[in-house]
Amino acid sequence: MSTTTPVRYLLHRFARRRSRQFVGGTVLVLLALAFQRVPALVIGVALDSLLLESQAFTLPLVPDAWIPTDTAGQATLVVASLVVAVGGESLCRWYGVLVYERANLETLHDIRTAAFETATALPLSAHRAEDRDLLSVLNDDVDNLEDLFDGGRAAVQYGGELVTAFAFMLLLNWNLAVVMALLPIVVAITARYYAGLLEPRYDAVRANVGRLNARLRDAIEGIRTVKSLVREGREAERVGHASGEYKAAAWSALKLRAIYNRVSWLLAVAGVWFLFGVGSYWILTGTPAVFTQSLTAGTLLTFIMYTFSLMDPTRKLAVEVLDKIESGQASSRRVVPLLRHDAAAARKDDVPPLSVTDGGVEYDAVSFDYGEGDGNEDGDDESTLTDVSLTAAPGDFVGIVGHSGAGKSTLVKLLLRFQEPDAGEIRVDGQPVADHSVRSLRQHVGYVGQDPFLFPGTVHENVAYARPDATRDDVVDAAKRASAHEFVAELPEGYDTEVGERGTTLSGGQRQRLAIARALLSDPEVLVFDEATSHVDTETEAEIQRTLRTVAADRTVFAVAHRLSTVRQADRIVVLDDGRVTERGTHAELVEQDGRYAGLWAVQTGAVAAAVETSTDAAETEVRG
Ligand code: ADP
Repeated sequence: MSTTTPVRYLLHRFARRRSRQFVGGTVLVLLALAFQRVPALVIGVALDSLLLESQAFTLPLVPDAWIPTDTAGQATLVVASLVVAVGGESLCRWYGVLVYERANLETLHDIRTAAFETATALPLSAHRAEDRDLLSVLNDDVDNLEDLFDGGRAAVQYGGELVTAFAFMLLLNWNLAVVMALLPIVVAITARYYAGLLEPRYDAVRANVGRLNARLRDAIEGIRTVKSLVREGREAERVGHASGEYKAAAWSALKLRAIYNRVSWLLAVAGVWFLFGVGSYWILTGTPAVFTQSLTAGTLLTFIMYTFSLMDPTRKLAVEVLDKIESGQASSRRVVPLLRHDAAAARKDDVPPLSVTDGGVEYDAVSFDYGEGDGNEDGDDESTLTDVSLTAAPGDFVGIVGHSGAGKSTLVKLLLRFQEPDAGEIRVDGQPVADHSVRSLRQHVGYVGQDPFLFPGTVHENVAYARPDATRDDVVDAAKRASAHEFVAELPEGYDTEVGERGTTLSGGQRQRLAIARALLSDPEVLVFDEATSHVDTETEAEIQRTLRTVAADRTVFAVAHRLSTVRQADRIVVLDDGRVTERGTHAELVEQDGRYAGLWAVQTGAVAAAVETSTDAAETEVRG
């Protein structure tokens, strides 16, 4: 399976179940094309036999016995076949395109939803910082796959037009048809030649559009910085420059495109003239020796009408359709690897669920490293976490402290299995989390991250995110336990207030308390709280401290804290230093030990503020001196 090309994979997995629609649509479109050939043919015959009266009235593939012998009957037959042909073509094309397009849209819908499901099932490590790549696969590339199916349909349409026109030409007069076969060949060669010249210019246009858009986005997104540093002029200059380059690239492509348009028009005219010249000559002087059939004026007229069906579709096939299929293929190469993750993700969920009753947690000699390119720029060989062991009895409140970058967040993320340890084991109620389903783990371990995400919607919807069926009472109860009820009650519409995009209408502390309420709603046995470094004022901090104490009363809590006062009440405090546990104990014990924790505590409570100030002054004097 893994050796199939991406396009085959897509066809096999998504399009095959609609093969009846695809084939049916294709057959109808081909039928429409056959109908489309009839009018030119009938008009040619009518010209010869009814107007010029130079030929008997015969139609290819139609037995002579079926054809009326009187002129009035023949004229009626001409009109009737024109009406039937036009009606048949319209019906077949209308219904064929509808059937095909519907199958097309449904297939794309399936691919899009499958890709999104896989993307959300991917481990967090696959979601990089801004996830622009993943978003562009989900957005642009999945949309681009439409090109693939469109290209397929266009290939059927134009290929069919070319083939039916040529087949009818062969049927009418194979001598002239053979000569006219030259035409599509010349058109295809010219079209490919110009496409080769145009492609790099269009690439340049696209690249310039991208650069221009990036410039515009950066300037607008960073408008506060731009304004505060009075750089509007410079930004305008840069946008002007990017726009100028785009203009130049577009102009260069446009000029060549204009030449190509004229060349293909001239080619079409030359093709008709050529046909008219050759045909007239044959009619006047007889067909040259190698050929045997005689040519009539009516057949020549039919040929002239068919000529356009030789040239136009060829040009489209050679350039547009090829480009579409190529662009669709390129996107399929990006979408399919994502879709193929599916099987692997499904296998991982094929493990028993965790059964949690008490909420005891053990870290047993856990080591972890983000690996190369982990943003750890000091270039040392130190792991992010080394040999960390710690135990939280059911109901314990564990505080995790340490300097910024010590690995505190990483430590708690391992519990949630946002990352997997390189060595060691984490157990919840004695069960290794790695042997149980991630889903069940996260149902029992609540997580409140540093910058909780609020979705556009009401306060109620955000709190009830994990349990949409929760009643208002459930939500209010959770909010009360998270100390969020008071401020929510003061919002203009209480729990029905819209929080705005990403919760921008709320303060950082309010967002955090809503996130705690959200985590508490499912009443998890373990709650992990990763304190935000920024946007927490003293008042909010005191509030969250109280909240955590209440929350910790009936569950195990891990709290990553930057301010030691947040975890002062903890049953145990773990001090991390460069990924290792260096101290552990209660607040009182650690202060007693007079180690790193005691030092930090002294700084944060201001006991050593004076000393620090003095030493900073001294340092500054030194530098200045
Ligand atoms: P803390 O929470 O103590 O501030 P973290 O656990 O966030 O520390 O980070 C520990 C180290 O791991 C830091 O050097 C940080 O740069 C690195 N790190 C954190 N997250 C990632 C990540 N997603 N990918 C790579 N490196 C990371």
